[in-house]
Amino acid sequence: MNLLPLILAKREGAALDAESLRAFVAAVSADAAPTYQVSALLMAILCRGMNAAETVALTRAMAESGQCHEWSALGRPTVDKHSTGGVGDKVSLILAPLVAALGAAVPMLSGRGLGFTGGTLDKLESIPGFDTQLDENRFQRQMAELGCAFIGQSERIAPADRRLYALRDVTGTVESLPLIVSSILSKKIAAGPAALVIDLKVGEGAFMRTLAAGQALGTALRETATSFGLRCTVLYSRMDVPLGRSVGNRSELREALALLGGSGPADLRELVLALAVLMLELARGGARSTLCADCEAALAGGIARDRFLAVVAAQGGRLDGQRADWGLPAAPAVAILRAEAAGYLPAPDAAAIGRLCVGLGAGRARVDDAVDPAAGVEFLKGWGEAVAPGEPLARVEGSDPQRVAAAGAALAPLITPQASPPAAASVLLGLEDDEGFRPLRGLAELLRGR
Ligand code: URA
Repeated sequence: MNLLPLILAKREGAALDAESLRAFVAAVSADAAPTYQVSALLMAILCRGMNAAETVALTRAMAESGQCHEWSALGRPTVDKHSTGGVGDKVSLILAPLVAALGAAVPMLSGRGLGFTGGTLDKLESIPGFDTQLDENRFQRQMAELGCAFIGQSERIAPADRRLYALRDVTGTVESLPLIVSSILSKKIAAGPAALVIDLKVGEGAFMRTLAAGQALGTALRETATSFGLRCTVLYSRMDVPLGRSVGNRSELREALALLGGSGPADLRELVLALAVLMLELARGGARSTLCADCEAALAGGIARDRFLAVVAAQGGRLDGQRADWGLPAAPAVAILRAEAAGYLPAPDAAAIGRLCVGLGAGRARVDDAVDPAAGVEFLKGWGEAVAPGEPLARVEGSDPQRVAAAGAALAPLITPQASPPAAASVLLGLEDDEGFRPLRGLAELLRGR
């Protein structure tokens, strides 16, 4: 296909019609357009933007480039969550089994990490044997039996997005609102949930640095989702410090297991509860305070953890629930950082910790890099906690002793105890639904909302 007419039209700021966009996506899927023209059209879209109708048409064409799932035969409501990505974001590992244990079904399409934001698939693959490439029969069976499956994007689901995203990554065209919206939503629409909650992360450790930029993306995602009949709520959450106390694939898995066991850090728990309440509200309705009480009981009573362990076993993963370390392999190299003086642990910059973890091997600098499942940082104190000289502050681990030593040296100045504690703030920033945007100062305010 010759894309020149589309490139020229978009270059001049014209809107592309649905038929042209469908032909473009079909050409990308069939590898029937020259890569230089696809790249030029992506750049024209980045520079000139797209209106709402074009964004919907592009999203539809991309979703329909592969198989679109439909779950009405399951007999329970379906709902999914998408996070725009952050440092230490292990929320999906807890949220999907929690919501499934409370009667909704979650066909969770997950991605791999790129840059300093982690990916759920990498965290799951730190479990020996875990398989994220379920064939269609296994995917359907697991959804019916357990109400939850974690799958990776494959040639089955929105294959046009795979090709376009790889090209955007190397042509400077990732940062386009309509391209981001169509990329995220085409995959979610193809996975087929009836409702979607977006965790839109805002801050130095996120794609969107300011609340205003985050809201532009959140509103575009919600409006586009809604035009597909996909009910959607956007939760804005803070990402200027890492979420929870661990960053890195296996260390985040351990923290997720702790939260599923009823313990775990307060910020992670607050975000999980907020997202679970919003997912259940869309899926089955009810007062938010009642839904939150159900979630807390499911965490404290172990039913969410049991569901996670059942999902792990169904996907071939080996976790030993009889052992405190879950039978997970120990990291070959470990360094403990200690306080040199008394003070308060500062809240470390999420982007700096994310970059440090990529250097350690926990994340990818390029799409085809391998990750080290053992690489990560665990903070042994909370932000603002008082520490005495010699007390352990953080544990750095990985497979390569030299990288562990280098990461330890880079981490030390970021967590030097300070004379006063950092200001405490809720991880929750705001909520956007049918009633518009409201700022939030914490879970209690969200629960009072309805
Ligand atoms: N995540 C996606 O899946 N696509 C984008 O374009 C950006 C983030």
